[in-house]
Amino acid sequence: MDCVFCKIVSNQLPSNQVFENHEIIAFLDIRPINPGHTLVIPKTHVASLSELDPQLAGRLFQIAGQIAAALRKSGIRCEGINVWLADGKAAFQEVPHVHIHVIPRFEGDGLRVETGPDYGQTPSSEEMQKQAKRIHDALKNL
Ligand code: ZN
Repeated sequence: MDCVFCKIVSNQLPSNQVFENHEIIAFLDIRPINPGHTLVIPKTHVASLSELDPQLAGRLFQIAGQIAAALRKSGIRCEGINVWLADGKAAFQEVPHVHIHVIPRFEGDGLRVETGPDYGQTPSSEEMQKQAKRIHDALKNL
């Protein structure tokens, strides 16, 4: 399989690994937003969050939380943490193998999140109810 993360799992590509167990590895992002930026991935190839076994998803987030705690104690500059999962191209997923970013943050680090022109406007209560119902109904059909 031509997947860069699968090649890291099988040691065909090098990585700066910070954690490994039988199903999960974590390693430094080679294009970090800030020093210490770590990726947590399942060892088996799964492209998107919806295809990931929910139990494994829980364990991935558990490891991400532990790495966040470790970053705070590591001596690497870290005043806050963003945990970020990009699911799909439109959400900036660049490698189609599920991964959680654990990103150390500090004041003035330059990372920005830009929003569309409608951000900050609370939709009407009718619209909010309609959206909530759609999601609620879709959950029943998973
Ligand atoms: Zn893969």
